[in-house]
Amino acid sequence: MNVVALAGGVGGAKLADGLARNLQAGSLTVIVNSGDDFDHLGLRVCPDLDTICYTLAGLANPDTGWGRAGETWHAMDSLKQLGGPTWFRLGDHDLGTHLERTRLLAEGLTLSQVTESFCERWGIKHRILPMSNDRTPTIVHTDVGQLAFQDYFVNQKCQPQVIGFQFNNIESAQPAPGVLESLIDANVLIICPSNPWVSIDPILSVPGIKETILDRLDRLLVIAVSPIIAGAAVKGPAAKMYSELGIDPSALNVARHYGSQKNGGLLTGYVFDVLDRDQENDIEALGLSTLMTNTVMKFDADRIKLAKEVLRFTKSSLN
Ligand code: GDP
Ligand code: CA
Repeated sequence: MNVVALAGGVGGAKLADGLARNLQAGSLTVIVNSGDDFDHLGLRVCPDLDTICYTLAGLANPDTGWGRAGETWHAMDSLKQLGGPTWFRLGDHDLGTHLERTRLLAEGLTLSQVTESFCERWGIKHRILPMSNDRTPTIVHTDVGQLAFQDYFVNQKCQPQVIGFQFNNIESAQPAPGVLESLIDANVLIICPSNPWVSIDPILSVPGIKETILDRLDRLLVIAVSPIIAGAAVKGPAAKMYSELGIDPSALNVARHYGSQKNGGLLTGYVFDVLDRDQENDIEALGLSTLMTNTVMKFDADRIKLAKEVLRFTKSSLN
C-alpha cells in the first residue's frame, strides 16, 4: 500500500508519525505545508517541515510539539542581551538546522533536496516533501491589516480577528519534484488533523496538486481526520478561525470544507472523534464513509493506535 499524507506542523506530525511507525519503510510520503516558511535572522526557517522531520526522527520536543527535545537557548539569551528580536524562539540545536539549510540553499540546492539530505542524516525511513520549492508565503487578512503568517501566529499569538487568507505567488508555484508522482502512485491519501485553512489549503492550492487528486479519484481513497474535537482545536487557532469566518467550528464543517466526492469534493472517508457522535448522521449524509474513534493523540501510543485504525479503515474501504 502506498500512502501519501498531507500535513502542517504539530497536529499533522502526530498522525504522520503514527503512520510512519505502522507502515513499511518507504511506503509513506508526507507532503508538508511550506506556506509558513520565512526568513528570520538571515536564516530560512521552515516550521512545519521541521516539526514533521524532527517528529519522525524522534528528535522533537514532546511537550511543545515543535522544536527539539533537550534544547538549550544560549543563542537566544545572547541575542536578547544585545536587544535582538526574540519573539520567534529558535533553540541552539534547531539553529543548526536553519544554518545548514540556509547555507545549502545559497549553494543552489532546492528545499526538497535539502530536506531529503537532512532526512537521510536523521535516519528517517519515509519520504518527506515540501509542497513546493517555490516560496508561497501565507498572509493572514485580519481586523488589524494583513499580517505575515508568523507575525500573526507567533508574534501576535493569533489574537487579531481573521478575515481571510492569501497564499502569495501560489498561482505560479510548482509542486516539488515527487509530489505529483507520489499522488499518482498512491492508493490512499490521508489528510492529517492539521489546520484546514493555513496548513492543508496551502498544499491543495499549489497548482496541480488538487487536480491530480481529483483526476485519480477512481483509484485513490481520500480520508481526512478531523482536527476539531467537540467544537475546539486541540491546539492552535483552527476553531477560532472558523468562528471568526462565521462558520461553526465542528467536525462536520471540516468535512464540508474538504467536501465529499459525491458532491465534487475530495473525500471518500472521514475520521472524527467519539465526542462528536451527535454529528455522525450529518457527516454520513454528505456521502462519506466514517470512522468514529478517539482521535486525541496525547502519547506515542495514541498516535500509533489512531494511525492503525485509520489504515484499517482505509483497507476496509479498499475491499
Ligand atoms: P501547526 O502547523 O503546528 O499549527 O499544526 P497543524 O496545522 O498540523 O495542526 C494544528 C491542528 O492540529 C489543530 O487544529 C489541532 O486541533 C490539531 N491537533 C493537534 N493535536 C491533535 C490531536 O491529538 N488529535 C486531533 N484530532 N487533532 C489534533
Ligand atoms: Ca504551521
